[in-house]
Amino acid sequence: MKPDTPLCPSAQFDGEGANVFGIVGGDQHHRRIIYLKSAIPASAIDVNTFEGVPPGEVVRVAAPCAKSACAHHSSETSRCTLAQRIVADVAPNVEGLAYCAIRTQCVWWAQEQAAACKRCSLIVREDRLPSPAVAEARVPPADRLKAISAEARQADVP
Ligand code: SF4
Repeated sequence: MKPDTPLCPSAQFDGEGANVFGIVGGDQHHRRIIYLKSAIPASAIDVNTFEGVPPGEVVRVAAPCAKSACAHHSSETSRCTLAQRIVADVAPNVEGLAYCAIRTQCVWWAQEQAAACKRCSLIVREDRLPSPAVAEARVPPADRLKAISAEARQADVP
């Protein structure tokens, strides 16, 4: 992956160019991420170590931003509306910024800077018990949902 490729910090484990940069910790009331010193190619990780738990519940994955193929992408502004909604609607859960191996390439950082990082650990790709604010923020704009097929939604929407 090129060092200047914009990365989505809420990507699929088995997607192209997927790299694990954090391990999900805490619980539904106190979400935490253990940020890795270096991102690890997801393809190098044996999913059997997750013991049947979906990777999206266990690790945080970065991969190249899908841009127009993602329901959260605004073609009008070329911005990630998911990052915008998270910053607007979800309260931060940390005051300072943790070390993050992908920050310099992260779309959310480039767009929302520290405001995104202070909420990042609240985002889990496959979250069975998200807070109401996170659950609401994750809903893509209605016009984008219509534009993206149901199949693509399942595959691409973080
Ligand atoms: S537009 Fe979609 S793929 Fe790109 S950073 Fe946002 S959520 Fe991730």
